[in-house]
Amino acid sequence: MRATVGPDQTDVIHRDLNRTYPVIERGEGVYLYDTAGKRYLDGSGGSAAVTSIGHGVREVVDAMADQALRLACSPTHAFSNEPIESAAQLILERFAPNNMARIFFCSSGSEANENAVKMAVQYHRELGEATRQIVISRWNSFHGLTIATLGLSGHTGRRRKLVPILPPSHHIAPCHFYRYGGSLDAAAYGREAADALDLEIRNLGPENVAAFIAEPVVGATLGAVPAVEGYFQRIREICDAHGVLLIADEVMTGFGRTGRAFGIDHWGVPADIISMAKGISGGYAPLGAVMASEEIVQTVRSRSGSFLIGGTASGNPLSCAVASAALGYVLDHDLIGNAADGGGYLLAQLEEIKTAHPIVGDVRGQGLLVGLEFVADLESKAPFDPGAQVAKRISDVTFANGLLSYPGQGTVDGTSGDHIMYAPPLTITRAQIDELIAILDAAIGQVEAEVVA
Ligand code: PMP
Repeated sequence: MRATVGPDQTDVIHRDLNRTYPVIERGEGVYLYDTAGKRYLDGSGGSAAVTSIGHGVREVVDAMADQALRLACSPTHAFSNEPIESAAQLILERFAPNNMARIFFCSSGSEANENAVKMAVQYHRELGEATRQIVISRWNSFHGLTIATLGLSGHTGRRRKLVPILPPSHHIAPCHFYRYGGSLDAAAYGREAADALDLEIRNLGPENVAAFIAEPVVGATLGAVPAVEGYFQRIREICDAHGVLLIADEVMTGFGRTGRAFGIDHWGVPADIISMAKGISGGYAPLGAVMASEEIVQTVRSRSGSFLIGGTASGNPLSCAVASAALGYVLDHDLIGNAADGGGYLLAQLEEIKTAHPIVGDVRGQGLLVGLEFVADLESKAPFDPGAQVAKRISDVTFANGLLSYPGQGTVDGTSGDHIMYAPPLTITRAQIDELIAILDAAIGQVEAEVVA
């Protein structure tokens, strides 16, 4: 077995075409093992926030093998199948907010968001409001890498090379109190940040706006930034006032990651459409899904009778059998409770790291979705020169020392700004969190000594 794959020893298009990759062989619980026998604590939970139930869970593998033998692929134009019916029922009964009615399964988070947008536009069209086609999103957000979802996303570094082919888009500023709160208190800032949506809708004309899409806790692009209290409540009011649908992108935050079933549950705000992926199957099978409210489903059901969505893998029985097994595991082991408890402990340890290291400007998160933002100057919050690659360097050191981190750059404006995110399996213990913190603390110390003159 190879220990590494170098840039000239592969036929695969890897993320970095010039990097030598160690080869991963297996996972067990919160740990990954490469072919050289080195152990890594999976701090990013796959890439990222995927492996909610940990690696190598026998029940899920057994469910997968049973289903694969019975029926791996289903002609969904002709039949329903028991795995998709059961997975939908389990999600609606045990995880979803009360207003949700039905679920469509697809294969990724990007696809879930594409379908969410199509459903929103169709809902309005069926009600005779065909001009409502714009979906407003936020800067510094991540909704996927397909052309349409990159259009919704607000990571300028990723978008700029493709702007001419992205669908026209409308973004408002994110809710990021640490960076944009200024002299306001959190409540006043939350209201001001939400009111930007009201202004945007009025500028565009409510008759042209179908939906607003947002991550309850901004993951990949900001490094686990939760909205402040009151923000989503005000967003809901604004959407209602203008007849605009609220889409919660829960691809990263869904299924217990934040210590509640869904991220939006923290604020008790009902969304109209929720997109999901990652934790839905715990990474054991590619699966995405989108669920819609009773109001949306009944509107379409009583008019055209059919959503303009579909796809070869929609309703794949194998992926859905895996989802039911993985989500059953989440419930049986109270992993939502563990995410809340472990997340609180992890955040408290990160606060200590912040106190010890002046390059850590902010630590934040919700449940087991947490992040650190690095700054060159604590007072002004000025970011490091992007060329210094501070987050990547810290992440490289943790990797060398057996901890998988999820670094990000462009936290401030798409180019500058550094953060690292952690989203370990929801099964992580306090002792394993201590291990994560010890490796991270040392890595920050090492890079800090290099970058602070
Ligand atoms: N939305 C959010 C919030 C995400 O975090 C991601 C993936 N990181 C996506 C959408 C896209 O999901 P996928 O990679 O499965 O297409």
